[in-house]
Amino acid sequence: MIALSHELGRGERNLAVLGEGNASARLSGRTFVVKASGSSLATLGKTGVAECRFDRLLPLLDGGPRGDAAVDEALLAARVDRAARKPSVEAVFHAYLLTLPGVNFVGHTHPVAVNKLLCSRHARTFASRRLFPDEIVCCGTESVFVPYTDPGIRLAQVIRSSVVAYIGRLGRIPRVILLANHGFIALGATPESVLAATLMGAKAAEIFAGAAAIGGAPRFLTRAQVLRIAGRPDEHYRQRILGI
Ligand SMILES: [Zn+2]
Repeated sequence: MIALSHELGRGERNLAVLGEGNASARLSGRTFVVKASGSSLATLGKTGVAECRFDRLLPLLDGGPRGDAAVDEALLAARVDRAARKPSVEAVFHAYLLTLPGVNFVGHTHPVAVNKLLCSRHARTFASRRLFPDEIVCCGTESVFVPYTDPGIRLAQVIRSSVVAYIGRLGRIPRVILLANHGFIALGATPESVLAATLMGAKAAEIFAGAAAIGGAPRFLTRAQVLRIAGRPDEHYRQRILGI
């Protein structure tokens, strides 16, 4: 998870600067580790992470609104080691996503290329359409789209309801969640799959913007073409070899 954080924080990738973004990993059915508030992905060390208990954070997703002080108290109480730093409030959505079947790692970034689209009228289209085969291999046939929501518990709740709707509609776990006017979340079984989805998502965003800039709407793959790639045995083989 620390190596994944360093990959996501590499300056030339333009995925996160300063304290932006975070990563997490499931340690067991009881706990997970997540970047602490204020630490940087690029330089993350063992003191910049906090091991948290699922059973202290998941209840925040239910019930009515809570004040900032109550949320801070719950974040601090979730730490296994009382000497660890306070986890970010985004730890709540990490906790939820790490309960999904097959999800062991989560990476959240604010990629420049992706946010250009997520701060434009193209945001929803970028989530629902696909432009090239490797985008499908790494990011899935569609991404979850989450309309802009105030960061914190409310955002974690909306992420959960959007993911539940996606799974209900498509019958599979998403690889990518796009947060309008905010950023990118990749989920996967391995750190490699999270990194692959993030890098390919950022590349797809650049291609989308470039195709749109050349003139008119980009030419998207058809639904049949997308499903054909998603179902191809040679693409599954490639996913296995790449560990994604
Ligand atoms: Zn964020």
